[in-house]
Amino acid sequence: MHEMSLALRIIEVAESEAKKAAATRISSIEVEVGRLAGVMAEALTFCLDAASRGTMAESAKIVFITTAGSGHCLDCKRDISVDEFPAQCPDCHGFGVTINNGTELKIRSISIDDNEGRQDNV
Ligand SMILES: [Zn+2]
Repeated sequence: MHEMSLALRIIEVAESEAKKAAATRISSIEVEVGRLAGVMAEALTFCLDAASRGTMAESAKIVFITTAGSGHCLDCKRDISVDEFPAQCPDCHGFGVTINNGTELKIRSISIDDNEGRQDNV
């Protein structure tokens, strides 16, 4: 399952960052999901829950930030906003659209608790 491999990767990255910062626990993870990433937030939440069991991210709060998609129309040479793929240009209605943004899936930030119980963003 697509979402499960993404979830495992997110937890792995979050844990390695938390370890670098000498954290004992990850309290929250902010995940940036592009509107065109082809990821279902609900499925990803479910998978993150499963993937985080037994890790520092167990019981971490997962916050999704949806980022807009954008592209460039090759026909009328405009930069346009894109909500779905394949994309259609809102101006000339052509389908010659390349995607610039919106397919990314990445960790924006993680919040950790360190040994002294302080909270920090890394
Ligand atoms: Zn166009």
